[in-house]
Amino acid sequence: GGTMILSNRVLNMEESVTLAAAARAKALKAQGRDILSLTLGEPDFPTPKNIQNAAASAIKDGRASFYTVTSGLPELKEAIVAYFAKYYGYTIKPNQVTVATGAKFSLYTFFMSVINPGDEAIIPTPCWVSYGDQIKMAEGIPVFVQATEANHFKVTVEQLESARTEKTKVLVLNSPSNPTGMIYTAKELLAIGNWAVEHDILILADDIYGRLVYNGNEFTPISSLSEAIRKQTIVINGVSKSYSMTGWRLGYAVGDPDIIAAMSKIAGQTTSNPTTATQYAAIEALTGPQDTVEIMRQAFEERLNTIYPLLSEVPGFDVVKPQGAFYLFPNVKKAMGMKGYTDVTEFTTAILEEVGVALVTGAGFGAPENVRLSYATDLDTLKEAVIRLKEFMEK
Ligand code: PMP
Ligand code: GLU
Repeated sequence: GGTMILSNRVLNMEESVTLAAAARAKALKAQGRDILSLTLGEPDFPTPKNIQNAAASAIKDGRASFYTVTSGLPELKEAIVAYFAKYYGYTIKPNQVTVATGAKFSLYTFFMSVINPGDEAIIPTPCWVSYGDQIKMAEGIPVFVQATEANHFKVTVEQLESARTEKTKVLVLNSPSNPTGMIYTAKELLAIGNWAVEHDILILADDIYGRLVYNGNEFTPISSLSEAIRKQTIVINGVSKSYSMTGWRLGYAVGDPDIIAAMSKIAGQTTSNPTTATQYAAIEALTGPQDTVEIMRQAFEERLNTIYPLLSEVPGFDVVKPQGAFYLFPNVKKAMGMKGYTDVTEFTTAILEEVGVALVTGAGFGAPENVRLSYATDLDTLKEAVIRLKEFMEK
């Protein structure tokens, strides 16, 4: 059949379940179905006006018409240097920065730059859906280390040590975490960072949710903890989540100049620079007024604090209260048992079909007993969704 045309690489790859779930919800809505979509991790606010205007004027006066240096406009790199001084508390140089078409592409060029066939990358799990497949595209081996609700979805150094082999090249660290919302403390990060330094393992710190923390919880960048850890770490960040700029597609990486140069080299043969107008918008996002970031953060916090207790009352749903990002990740093992399901993807599909609530199956996150709800949507939708989940369980 037609599939014979396709490469083993793509045949062995999973589709992004987050994007697939969102697309399914959109298609059903377009057919006129009454669907509440809690699928995508995407802020529902318009991009702040000052950021929009920065891009608009770059377009109007012709600055956005042309390619930039692949690794990004010098002014954008300077903005990232200044951002690091302010939010990370340390000094970096422009040659330690490369920007890309979304943090997702920064991650991809990182794995492509450091992974040789057969190299292993340890990923604490539950984890975001794209790490494993990107590592596989680079012919590496993702090694999943399971964290559970019992230890607040966080792995220990002992667990990491038992997963370590001679082939371990990278540790993926995503705190605050998608999908669990958990945040590692400075103490935990120091132990993990020292372990990585001791064994010469690169740390990939995906800090994209660092500004989205709630109820007094704090984000500590692992790269800020010591000089030795910093040398070993590539930080991935971006504007999608904190500035409500998912559609603009801009992420960046900060770290060792040689790795950064390798990542730019890959971008130079694939995407070239990220969209020029977007880069001007990102300069304004990172250096302009930050009050809109705080307004959006407070809105997410209010949604979390409203919806968490309600979700906890849904029969069979066990929820750990998240500390950051914008996801709830209930364990639905009991709920599945009550409804006669053993497969969480089938359970998620049944919820969509019977009560029109679109969630993401935990399966893609390495969590076969969980579902993910994004609360990056308005409170009315969230409240109605929980009512429908209750209805589903009580039917
Ligand atoms: N890392 C994590 C953990 C994410 O949830 C996302 C969500 N898209 C990304 C990276 C990529 O973000 P983007 O490509 O929109 O910058
Ligand atoms: N990161 C968001 C999510 O997990 C957006 C979709 C994606 O890139 O996976 O929903």
